[in-house]
Amino acid sequence: MVDETASVQPIRLAIIGVGKIARDQHLPAIAADPRFELVAAASRNAVVDGVPNYHDIAALLAAGHALDAVSICTPPVGRAAIAMAAIDAGLDVMLEKPPAATLSEIARIEAHAAAAGRTLFATWHSREAAGVAAARAWLADRTVERVTIDWREDIRRWHPGQDWILEAGGFGVFDPGINALSIATEILPGAWSVQSADLRVPEGRMSPLAADILLSCDDVPVTAAFDFLHEGPQQWDIVVDTDAGQLTLRMGGSVLEIDGTVTEAPDAEYPRLYAKFKRLVRARSSDVDATPLRLVADAFLVGQRETVPAFAW
Ligand code: NAP
Repeated sequence: MVDETASVQPIRLAIIGVGKIARDQHLPAIAADPRFELVAAASRNAVVDGVPNYHDIAALLAAGHALDAVSICTPPVGRAAIAMAAIDAGLDVMLEKPPAATLSEIARIEAHAAAAGRTLFATWHSREAAGVAAARAWLADRTVERVTIDWREDIRRWHPGQDWILEAGGFGVFDPGINALSIATEILPGAWSVQSADLRVPEGRMSPLAADILLSCDDVPVTAAFDFLHEGPQQWDIVVDTDAGQLTLRMGGSVLEIDGTVTEAPDAEYPRLYAKFKRLVRARSSDVDATPLRLVADAFLVGQRETVPAFAW
């Protein structure tokens, strides 16, 4: 068996945007993987201990480190300019989800990476959740009748003080909701579209705190309820009714229940993402699927907006 971690030369990596997800997931995953060496970080305020830190990607690139790649963990607005600068500098690029603020941005980044011969990996961490691959396999030879998505979490608990999330381009409740769509489109790889959406935007903010969306996959109805003000037990569930039983992915895809039989495994989403990035770099290929972003864009296009009471942290 090939030891994938045994590589001659680790990928020399810089992190761009040191916030919650960089600290919670990226830095531990990189530290645990000998296929990567963290060389530097760039963030306007935050720093990573033990490596040189720069205010932004321009200062990082000007410093002249021997670098192979960047992993971009900033909010979506502004991410495209960072990715383009990295590609121009000859670097491979890994993008946090959502891959960009708009569809045209991700298309432009993808074309730019292809023209430059660089690897671009637009990650969807929830697709690496423990139950997702098995769910896709189980569903492959069944007829799906209905899909119900409930993605309800407490913004104050998971995104404390992140005002950018409720600004224009911050995605609002679609920041977590796009994770549900990334899983749904992975386990049901059909033709997806959005029929309607109700978007509830708090007074004085630009992005919704809650949304109800009606979608379809190959004409099968899919309902999605996203709520950012959900207290108590947090809920990240996808229920798929088929002609041959019911499948439920709970806890963001880490728990799989099929007709009452539950399987779960420890979280390894980010180690898997980095392993995949290394494979893509080795193969000199890219992985970019904008489908979840397209569905969010469509929900914003057809969505009816309702103003709800102001939100304060
Ligand atoms: P965050 O805690 O706000 O961190 C993002 C960091 O990017 C900030 O700390 C900030 O550091 C830097 N930054 C650069 N430009 C910025 C700007 N214009 N506005 C605000 N910050 C800016 O956010 P996060 O939760 O890590 O989320 C970042 C990305 O990861 C998002 O796309 C999100 O969807 C994704 N993600 C988050 C989670 C999660 O659980 N939070 C999970 C998976 C994926 P400086 O001030 O030092 O520049």
